[in-house]
Amino acid sequence: MTEFWNERSMDATVENMMLDSQASLLTQQEMTEILSLLPCLGECTVLELGAGIGRYTSQLLTRAKHVTAVDFMESFLEKNRESNGHHSNATFIRADVTKLDFPQKSFDLIFSNWLMMYLSDEELNSFLEKMLAWLRPGGFAFFRESCDHRSGDSKMGFNPTYYRTDAQYSYLVSSVEVEGTECGQKCGFEIVVKKNIQAYVEIKNNPNQICWLLEKVPRSLVTQTGFSTFQQFLDHQQYSSRGIRRYEKMFGAGYVSTGGPSTTKEFVDLLNLKPGQKVLDVGCGIGGGDFYMAKTFGVDVLGLDLSENMVNIAVKRAVTEKLPSVQFEVADATRRMFPEGSFDVIYSRDTILHIPDKLALFKRFHSWLNPGGQLLISDYCCGEKPWTAVFEDYVKQRGYVLYTPSQYGKFLEEAGFCRVRAEDRTAQFIQVIETELQSAEDNKEEFIEELSEEDYLALVNGWREKLGRSKSGDQRWGLFYATKACLKE
Ligand code: SAH
Repeated sequence: MTEFWNERSMDATVENMMLDSQASLLTQQEMTEILSLLPCLGECTVLELGAGIGRYTSQLLTRAKHVTAVDFMESFLEKNRESNGHHSNATFIRADVTKLDFPQKSFDLIFSNWLMMYLSDEELNSFLEKMLAWLRPGGFAFFRESCDHRSGDSKMGFNPTYYRTDAQYSYLVSSVEVEGTECGQKCGFEIVVKKNIQAYVEIKNNPNQICWLLEKVPRSLVTQTGFSTFQQFLDHQQYSSRGIRRYEKMFGAGYVSTGGPSTTKEFVDLLNLKPGQKVLDVGCGIGGGDFYMAKTFGVDVLGLDLSENMVNIAVKRAVTEKLPSVQFEVADATRRMFPEGSFDVIYSRDTILHIPDKLALFKRFHSWLNPGGQLLISDYCCGEKPWTAVFEDYVKQRGYVLYTPSQYGKFLEEAGFCRVRAEDRTAQFIQVIETELQSAEDNKEEFIEELSEEDYLALVNGWREKLGRSKSGDQRWGLFYATKACLKE
């Protein structure tokens, strides 16, 4: 490793750092993109690992309370000191990151750009554990790597780089744990956002530059779901690849929610979308609604979803659709940060049932919208308690958190939205389920050929049970529309 970098550090330019001649063009764009993903750093102490000549150090220094920049190449660090040493809130350390140590809970953000790919699996594993320990609970880790979608752990001969797939990184990250809080609970990483760097996609047609922003949180979920992260719960339970394939067959190509294309057309029409408007789809699934909005109304759409399985499918289809105005990212809507007024429309279909704290989520939506911006949500709701035992069991097993349509509407008002419309659409829900069920039964042969008999039976039974739960009055479906007040209102 040292030899490799010694050769390249003779002339410590940005090109050598990035091993790429298009560096200057890319550097500006990717820097803006990466910095926009980070939390607000005002009061934060930051550890930057593999800081190099300080491309990011200077940016972090103007934003954070303190930055500790670490690199093991003296010539890089010297150049970094030259450019950034005048900042009183900077510390420079020459060290090999794998041998580094800090007291527990020393930092709010640990930042690295192209570092993990120079560590072997073993080094990376123990390094991630150390990072987790150095962070305060609620602190963030950011890293960006060159990934390889084809093979995985291939190690390039001349260039000591471990090309992992993004799935390998995600797996390594989700499995590390440390003793965490005072009450003895373990802490781990939850994903805030994982996405490919758009500058590389646009300038170099390269989707393999991928970054992660993670949050250190107590592992409270383990006992409830049997999975260490909520993302794993989604990807392994309800939204396994097979689960998604089943749902899509039932709901219609591109969709994983009630009514598929028909309810999407009906509800999107309520928004009166204009070309160039910015739409955020929260829990975008495999992206059918996003392609529809972009194609029909010329809007720019960002679809986010916590399930890797969903986003992988959506991203593949975006390539076939050739629609650069639609982008997807793996992100947790309850953790992702956007600047105030980032979107004209926030759209979410049958997703928020997975999210316990609706009020906190709606407050985030309110801040992300432009004044005058619109919010449109369809979601699973419930009737007044007591519920039937069947419904109690169903909700518990799925991990849903449900409210009546009118309680739901009150959360929207409390979050600051105006002109809130909360409609109980259960009658429409029942009608749609009956149509979907009928169509499956009419096309039984085709279903079985494309999926399997087991899948067909699971779907048809699932739909019959859903009908039963809805007809008993326990399961409800709500449509919600609200706006953020215009400045002059
Ligand atoms: N809206 C899509 C998908 C609906 S399925 C459609 O109509 O076809 C619900 C989706 O919500 C799933 O893809 C699930 O992964 C996603 N989801 C659940 N919790 C989430 C969270 N906290 N952040 C982002 N997405 C979430």
